[in-house]
Formats: sequence, C-alpha cells, structure tokens
Amino acid sequence: MPISGSEIVKMLPGRKPCKDCGFPTCFAFAMKLATGGTSLDKCPYLTAEAKAKLEDLLAPAIKLVTIATGDNKVQVGNEEVIYRHEKTYLHPPGIAILISDKEEEAQINEKIRKVEELHFPWVGLTLKAELLALQFASGDKNRFLALVKKAAATNLGLVLIAEDVEALFAARELCADKRPLLYPITKDNIEQALPKLKAQPTPVGVRGEGIEELIPLTMKLKAAGVDEAVLDPGSKTMLEAIRDQTFIRRAAIKQGFRPLGYPTIAFPCFMVQDGLKEILAASMFITKFAAIIVLSDFDQYSLLPLLVQRLNIYTDPRFPMAVEEKYYEIGTPNEEAPVLITSNWALTYFIVSSAIEATKIPAYLCVKDTEGLGVLTGWAAGKFTGDQIASMIKKSGIGDKVKNKKIVIPGKVARIKGELEDALPGWEVVIGPREAAGIGAFLPEYAKSLRK
Ligand code: SF4
Repeated sequence: MPISGSEIVKMLPGRKPCKDCGFPTCFAFAMKLATGGTSLDKCPYLTAEAKAKLEDLLAPAIKLVTIATGDNKVQVGNEEVIYRHEKTYLHPPGIAILISDKEEEAQINEKIRKVEELHFPWVGLTLKAELLALQFASGDKNRFLALVKKAAATNLGLVLIAEDVEALFAARELCADKRPLLYPITKDNIEQALPKLKAQPTPVGVRGEGIEELIPLTMKLKAAGVDEAVLDPGSKTMLEAIRDQTFIRRAAIKQGFRPLGYPTIAFPCFMVQDGLKEILAASMFITKFAAIIVLSDFDQYSLLPLLVQRLNIYTDPRFPMAVEEKYYEIGTPNEEAPVLITSNWALTYFIVSSAIEATKIPAYLCVKDTEGLGVLTGWAAGKFTGDQIASMIKKSGIGDKVKNKKIVIPGKVARIKGELEDALPGWEVVIGPREAAGIGAFLPEYAKSLRK
C-alpha cells in the first residue's frame, strides 16, 4: 500500500525550512518522495531509524529480483498494480525450459539450442525465452553437476532445481557468478540453507504447501538478509493457481503485506502433462502475475504465441509503441534512391519498411514523430501535417543525401501535398499508395523514373 506524503512528513526532521533537500519545505519533500520523484538521501538530517523505516515503507510492494547478469539478466517483480489498465506492468516474466539430468545428452543439447536460437524479430524487438531450469532428478549428484557445468558455459540465465540442499549449493558453486535462482527453499530445508545463503546471498525460489507456509519462510530469509525471492505457493490445479497468484498479488499491492511482496514462479511443466494444455497454462500465468514460468519443452510454434502475448501484456498501454523520428536507410540507398515518409507508430513503420524491403529497392524512409499514431490518425490529430513534415525533413538532413528532391507521401493524406510543397520549397511531393500493400507495385516504377 503506498505511503502518503502526509504520513512521510511525520517522520521527517521538521527543521524550519532549511531547504537543503532542494525543496522549500519538509512537506514538499515528503510529497515528492511519496511519488518517487526524489530520494531519501537528499535530506541529510534524517535519523538512521527514520531512514530505515522510510526505506522500508517506500520500497516497491513487490521486490525486484534479478537472475543472471549482463545482457542476459532477467529482472522480475517491482510491479505496482494488480491490473494492467490501472497503469502498466513493468517486468515481463522470464520463460524457462526444464532440463532434467535424466535426459539424454542429445535432448539436453537440443533444448539448450532452442533457447539460444529461437529468437524472433518483432516490431524492432527480439522475442526469446531466457532461462534454463536444471533439475536434479537422477539421484546422481555428479550427473546433475555435469549438467549445470554445461549450462553454465552458455550465456543463459539458470534456475537450479534440487530437493537435495547439498546438491543445490554444490551446483551454485559452479555458476555463482551468473546469479542463478536456487529452488526450492522449503520449511524442511531452510535451516540447512540459511547459513549458506547468509554467506553468499543468492536469489531463491521459496516453496510452500499453500500461501500461509510461505510467510514464515520469507520472514526468516529477510531477517537473514536474503531479500531476493520468488514464491511458489504449491498450487496443484489451474483453479488453485489463479486463486493463489491473485491472492499473493493483492496481499502485496493492496494490503502492503511485505512477507508476500515478492514475484512468483510457476511450473506448468509439473501441473499438466499434455503439451498444448501446458502452453495454455503458461498463457494463463503470463496474464495472471507469474514472474518465472517453467515449461517442459517448446518449439517455435508454441513459443512465439507466448512471447507475443507476453509482449502485449507487458507493453505500457499508456504509450503506443513507437520508433525514433529520423530517416532510415533501407538497403544501401544512393543519391538516386526514393525518399518516402510515414508516421512513427511501430506497426506502421515495420509494415512500410518491410514492404519497401520486399521490393529490393534501396530507399530512404523518413519517419515523422506522431507520438505513436498511424498516418491518418496522426494527420487527424494534427501531428502529420505539411508544416510538421517539412520541419522534420529540414532537420533530418535527408536533403543532403539525394539528388532528386522528391518525397513520397502516403496516399491517405494526399490532401497535404500543397501545404507540404509550400512549406518545403525545392521539393516535389509525390502521392504514393494509400496502403503499404501498394508499395510493391508502386516503388519499382517510381525508382526507375528517378534514374531517367
Ligand atoms: Fe526538511 Fe530535510 Fe528538506 Fe531540511 S532537508 S527541508 S529537514 S526535508
């Protein structure tokens, strides 16, 4: 539950406005703190006790947990709302493939290959799974450690799964520098695990037989200085899973209940045996709050829909996806190449650029910032007008790149031709196809005309 400015101000020193924090009064500072607009260290007069208390109260309702390092790190948690439409979700769930140490070498290699190679370009992003979940199931510790060693040689993030605490921490020794997630910490092994975790804090997956069992475990971990955890309430069915995931999210965000203020881990791989049902379960977990989702296997056909769903749910609904305003080179355009313009809605940009690419004609595609609106909507909103396009063209420097000062505008906004020509002296405005689908027929002929 977020703390209000008026509650924060009661814990501030209340010196007659010294303004050392950069705000005219303690109250103004408190109000800014409550919205995350400044930090506690700006007030040098806070007592250690007040500072610790405020740090705790101002911490996000759901702890941020980082697994792996560098470019491959997966950050989950830190969510601020229950429903996406209230604001936005922030950290998309990490998707893991389960590899048991009982599996054959070839199968293990194939699963690692899938996570390394199944990358999908998607509106300027790369969609992919991120994690290998390595399970000690053979009973042969050396076999498990060999699997961990092999996986640690990749750049992928790791989830280590072993009921045997000795095996779990022996595996950690092989990849501690990669920040693996250790699973499970339970009521039965926490006393054995705590000294090792205290000595070297590592993110852990906490498993309970029900939500209540998780609470004393996270409290113990926190007291020992282990604050990065993901929760597994041990749900056995989909119905239980939806109930438990929702309960944990509500307890953390609505009640501000710290012992449940952690992201969650879900195992569709253990909940259902049927491949298609497993993917459907994973899809439910993407929507219903899971932060790490472990699948028994996937291929391009099952993984891509999940990744697209994840992207859609974790895209900020307040801002349309947009690309940067500038000119983009498609192929290797020279001074005779056509110049086209479109809006900066990501979908528009990628459809238009793909249509140009398909013609194999090198071109310049200018992109006007319409705050993520499509061409016609951008024009209707006054963000794709002749004056604005002219100003963008002048600033972009595209005029220095081409001999023929001609620019192709989308046919849907043919009406801005005159206005654009007035605002862009020396340029001829050509009306292009109404839809990107028409570029294939239009561009080759048009490019030929420029070379005459
Ligand atoms: Fe108040 Fe601290 Fe700011 Fe001074 S520095 S005005 S005591 S909040």
